[in-house]
Amino acid sequence: MKIGNLRLDQRYTFKEFKAMGEVTTTCDNCGALLKNLYTIEGEKDNALYIVGSECVEAYTLMNPLEYAEIKRTRAKHLRFVKELRKAKVILINEHDNYWFYISDNPESPVIKKVLSGKWDSNWRGRGIYEGEIKDIIDGMNCPIVHEAKECVA
Ligand SMILES: [Zn+2]
Repeated sequence: MKIGNLRLDQRYTFKEFKAMGEVTTTCDNCGALLKNLYTIEGEKDNALYIVGSECVEAYTLMNPLEYAEIKRTRAKHLRFVKELRKAKVILINEHDNYWFYISDNPESPVIKKVLSGKWDSNWRGRGIYEGEIKDIIDGMNCPIVHEAKECVA
């Protein structure tokens, strides 16, 4: 395991995973450039650290079940983000819930369908329009339809 900046006299628990599309920061332990951010918390200092995949494995290895959960969460999250990036239209309602539509036809019939409230199997994932997801959606080229508001596409 890489010995870096993190204390070795405490255990760390996994708190959160975020997949960023590009390098946004460096590992608090080893300084590596990171796209995938794992937040871990020190047992003694209760401080949060952001580390990469190698360091999260090294520092949470004492609990294999926990790491398996991280890997599952990461894989699921990456699949979700990959699909979200393929969205042709995104609908955001007044409560900041979003849905995305993956039809190959991004033309106006899709927009009409969105506005008429018709749902079909091309609708995917629902979630809260905030944080990392909001950043991804805001950076996409597809039309974003705000329910009960004007289309801002
Ligand atoms: Zn690292």
